[in-house]
Amino acid sequence: NPLASAQYVLAAHLPRQLPADGGREVAFAGRSNAGKSSALNAMTGQNKLARTSKTPGRTQQLVYFGVQPDRWLVDLPGYGYAKVPPDLREHWKTFINGYFRERQALAGLVVVMDIRHPLREFDQQMLAYAAARGLPAHCLLTKADKLSRGAQGTTLLQVRREVHAEYGEATSVQLFSAPSRIGVDELRGVVAGWLEL
Ligand code: GDP
Repeated sequence: NPLASAQYVLAAHLPRQLPADGGREVAFAGRSNAGKSSALNAMTGQNKLARTSKTPGRTQQLVYFGVQPDRWLVDLPGYGYAKVPPDLREHWKTFINGYFRERQALAGLVVVMDIRHPLREFDQQMLAYAAARGLPAHCLLTKADKLSRGAQGTTLLQVRREVHAEYGEATSVQLFSAPSRIGVDELRGVVAGWLEL
């Protein structure tokens, strides 16, 4: 597993706190509770890399995990918390907008979505940011274990068709489940490829 060496390095809530913009990084986005922390943990094979229960105020940061010198995984703030105060929400929007527009190191975006609620508004916004930059994006349909095999396949095809139409062929989609170990190797392959590991 090329991502097993990932370790926490820093959390940034201001652009100037980010590491020097010279390496390669893959960002992970998702609505709160979609399963992003569980996916990061399964992908790296580390049960405690990303915390799996968080409170709103603590989540407004970009968390950097170093894999190798100048190779990073970036955990973006979970979006969709109703309780985040408006000024904080504005701050995060500005920060994330700037990050997506300017970050040269950004090699790809993983959008984590609960397979039962794919492509909500914020997911679409993230995919649009990536498409606007010409960055590849990869959608994880997580908690696949919550659906039957048949329903998993149907949703996969539907979401794939929709993202190809909306955001282009550089947007890929896969099934994922942390407890059932569905799609773990596939995710590792995509992320390691983007990081050129
Ligand atoms: P995050 O807020 O996106 O980081 O989500 P977490 O990883 O903390 O997961 C939120 C909740 O969903 C937790 O109770 C997890 O145990 C659960 N969960 C995450 N991934 C899966 C999955 O693949 N299958 C199932 N059944 N539950 C999951």
